[in-house]
Amino acid sequence: MSHIVAISPHLDDAAFSVGGLLAARARSGDRVTIVTCFTGNVAQPQGFALACQTDKGLGPDIDYMALRRAEDDAACAVIGADAVHLPFLEAPHRGYTSAAELFGSRRQDDGMVEPLAAALSERLAELAPSLLLGPLAIGDHVDHWVVRDALAATGLPFLLWEDWPYLRRADTRPNMEPLIRHALTDADRDARYGMCAAYASQLGFQFGGPDALARQTAEIRHENLYRP
Ligand SMILES: [Zn+2]
Repeated sequence: MSHIVAISPHLDDAAFSVGGLLAARARSGDRVTIVTCFTGNVAQPQGFALACQTDKGLGPDIDYMALRRAEDDAACAVIGADAVHLPFLEAPHRGYTSAAELFGSRRQDDGMVEPLAAALSERLAELAPSLLLGPLAIGDHVDHWVVRDALAATGLPFLLWEDWPYLRRADTRPNMEPLIRHALTDADRDARYGMCAAYASQLGFQFGGPDALARQTAEIRHENLYRP
């Protein structure tokens, strides 16, 4: 039995990007683990960090990260994957104060790569993946780049997925040939939709709702993996 470990920046990225491939591997009997890096809470989010929650219709009294961790547990349950939640803070809780900054250059005081690489090294020593996956960072979200750089810093071999839905918006494909082109079966697509739909708090913001997610998922033919 192989063990596929996907290193997700946020609570949704792995399912959004390679949910079909993970579902296919789980169905064929492989063990699948999704490790999500930025799942930590701050007690009382303020400013932009709070806005990232309230603009999804979730009031300040709701424990936003707890809700999203529960969504991730439900998404993983769709394919029988294990969920691991690392307690690092998302960029809006690390000094990034606008949407533009999330997709701009890394803050000089954002010393996130080193501690994340250390935490990943420790976890991956236990998990012993036979295939390790992470984000290509299409769309240039700073947290996706931090995860990609931290994976590189572990020294372990890994492959990169195309970040969805950024791939769709940016309409930019990587300027190289994928190492693996996983053709989605109907069963893969259904499982992928089921996983993605579990992240209910994100669907309006990311897709315009579950129906739009279903339509966009139906268009996907392949999930591609690249060498770093
Ligand atoms: Zn993300």
